[in-house]
Amino acid sequence: MIKIECPIIHMDMDSFFAAVEKRDRPQLKYKPVIIANDPKANPRAVVSTACYVARKFGVRSAMSAVHAQRLCPEGVFIAPNKNKYADESKVIMEILHSFTPAVEPLSIDEAFLDVEGCEKLWGSSLDIAKKIQHKIFKKTELTCSLGIAPNKYLAKLCSEYRKPNGITYLHPEKVNEFLLPMDVGKIWGVGAKLKSELNKLGIYTVADLQKCSQSFLTKRFNKMGTQLWSLARGIDNRAVETVQKAQSISREYTFKEDIIDGDYLRGVVYSTSDEISRKLRSKNIKAKTVYIKVKFSSHKTITRQYAISSGTMLSSDISQNAVRLLKDITRFEKQSIRLLGVGVANLTSQQSAQLSFFDYTDKKDEKEKKLLESLDEVLTKYGESSVFRASAPNVIMEEKLRGKANREENNKRVKK
Ligand SMILES: [Mg+2]
Repeated sequence: MIKIECPIIHMDMDSFFAAVEKRDRPQLKYKPVIIANDPKANPRAVVSTACYVARKFGVRSAMSAVHAQRLCPEGVFIAPNKNKYADESKVIMEILHSFTPAVEPLSIDEAFLDVEGCEKLWGSSLDIAKKIQHKIFKKTELTCSLGIAPNKYLAKLCSEYRKPNGITYLHPEKVNEFLLPMDVGKIWGVGAKLKSELNKLGIYTVADLQKCSQSFLTKRFNKMGTQLWSLARGIDNRAVETVQKAQSISREYTFKEDIIDGDYLRGVVYSTSDEISRKLRSKNIKAKTVYIKVKFSSHKTITRQYAISSGTMLSSDISQNAVRLLKDITRFEKQSIRLLGVGVANLTSQQSAQLSFFDYTDKKDEKEKKLLESLDEVLTKYGESSVFRASAPNVIMEEKLRGKANREENNKRVKK
């Protein structure tokens, strides 16, 4: 039996949200569709996806919707419908799982698959990629692009290579040929800042980067330098991780006005941590990573994470670490903040250990656990908006009250 040389497939849906909307409204087929809230009603709206017609005008995701409208005055703005896309994503992920259990979703419309050992059932990895593309289109009328390569890093580069509706197979012997002319900005983990630093050193392509020694790169860029040396040679040893690790719980808030007040921001972190902790407790899950996302008024976005080796469900663990990360991020930035998000990842279910949250005893946590236990009771009985921190900032209170109003409205409708 022939061993699969390129066992890793990266699948990426083509302009996913826009494609779903176009499928559902065929009259928009040739129109520039932009998934974002209407910039006239909401000047702070951001583009989440642009269809391929809109991209010809220079519209890109993460761009402000106002800017997108300036570039493309004919653009049809459609407010994102997250539930619809999530339902569609479920169908697509199920199709991927029908080929192998080794599926690692990266986002709502992207995933890695490891098809090693599947050849008997489905054929070569190229056969599998073709079958996936066909099956997804047949079931959803949506197109995707796939990259097939010896590892995750290369597979992701390949799926981008022939978009939309493309398949790129990278033979292990062709890796260097493929990488050499590539812009260094395309290397995984190289953002605008690192790219300009590399350019200053006269490094523009992977070929330029390959001329640098490992010790030079490591000295200059620390850990990232070592990684650059490997990635320039197409080396990436990360395994395809199945579902559990890719999951996370997070909340983020875009403020009506940019915020610089540290107390206010910490208040958001505390309240958000309470909410996340409650979710973890209700599912009996521990998180081993706490992370934070900050978007400044200039749109510069930074995320930082911190590992808690033993895992936690406690709000205080989440908030203390998140506040510390927030401090690190804002120390050198004099700008105000537009968006703040807190999240946990690396989740492990406690069920297997037959332990509930209140069974695991650590004396210092005892008090907090008691408090949380009674708090959970109140929240379950009287609803999410019944208790909040005295320090909760208005953005949190407004949302809770809005949620309460919506629920009451729904209840009324149901009773009718
Ligand atoms: Mg995509």
